[in-house]
Amino acid sequence: DGRVVTPDFREEDSGDISLRPAQLDDFVGQRAVRENLRVFVQAARGRGDALDHVLFFGPPGLGKTTLAQIVAREMAVGFRATSGPVIAKAGDLAAILTNLQPHDVLFIDEIHRLSPAVEEVLYPAMEDFHLDLIIGEGPAARSVRIDLPPFTLVGATTRSGLITTPLRERFGIPLRLQFYEPEELQQIVSRGARVLKMNLTDDGAAEIARRARGTPRVAGRLLRRVRDFAAVAGVEVIAALQADGALRRLDVDERGLDAMDRRYMRCIAENYGGGPVGVETMAAALSEQRDVLEEVIEPYLIQQGLVQRTPRGRMLSRGGFTYLGLDVPRSLEQ
Ligand code: ADP
Repeated sequence: DGRVVTPDFREEDSGDISLRPAQLDDFVGQRAVRENLRVFVQAARGRGDALDHVLFFGPPGLGKTTLAQIVAREMAVGFRATSGPVIAKAGDLAAILTNLQPHDVLFIDEIHRLSPAVEEVLYPAMEDFHLDLIIGEGPAARSVRIDLPPFTLVGATTRSGLITTPLRERFGIPLRLQFYEPEELQQIVSRGARVLKMNLTDDGAAEIARRARGTPRVAGRLLRRVRDFAAVAGVEVIAALQADGALRRLDVDERGLDAMDRRYMRCIAENYGGGPVGVETMAAALSEQRDVLEEVIEPYLIQQGLVQRTPRGRMLSRGGFTYLGLDVPRSLEQ
């Protein structure tokens, strides 16, 4: 998807210079998560143990991968990253696990997309650090047990409801990430500007932060795009005015919404009388995948109070109608 505000990873996000913070102290926001991790890391190190398994959940682009890397660095252990869809067979997982060094961090992104067969292999590995593998087929098949070094599994998933209960219960440290406050995003943008050697004023950073949908990944991307506009226009100092001009040209409005968000909201308002309307119906009407609506578009609109998720489907809120410049229906007036 080609939207500049999408929270999903895009190639341009890696860029030439990384904006990823390397230490817990440089990680802005998510205060409760950060402080809890600090305690658990310190305690595990003090005991000389591997850190307990950690599960991060939260929308894309909020820092799950970054925190997993930071955990490895703070524990002073190796870091290995893979993702649910990449591990096709139980043997693939076994190969990864048997290659870990003691106390290493294994990060599995999109862990809810592991196949059931692979998940089965993971349970004893997480619980008792061993693998039960079936070798051979038919009557000749036998099971072998392989011991593993103690390791830390860090899983990431976009919504807690996606992960199976037996898997979720094997994580000692479940942590939920929230959208960032504008002030936190402003700090992240200012730090990014320093890394990119941009001359960005505080109000310029605030302008970008306000429009970044509570998501550091989006903030970083908008920052790079603003830098491009400034470079081409020969602008040295980037203040709110210059940032605003660039973001307008990218079709990112004052609240960080773009044409896709407006299309989504207008569809509920104009085709379904403001809802409730089921997500499948919306997906068909907009020719988008249900997953894209649920994971990429809706979380921010819901967090902003523009859309509501109800048991009977999606509804546009009063704020949503007002945002679109439409009259608020009588049923929504209190
Ligand atoms: P996720 O794994 O949740 O999709 P990432 O960890 O890949 O998100 O983070 C997305 C981008 O946002 C990264 O480039 C990272 O540098 C940046 N980022 C995330 N959280 C923070 C933070 N708290 N402070 C600064 N940058 C952050």
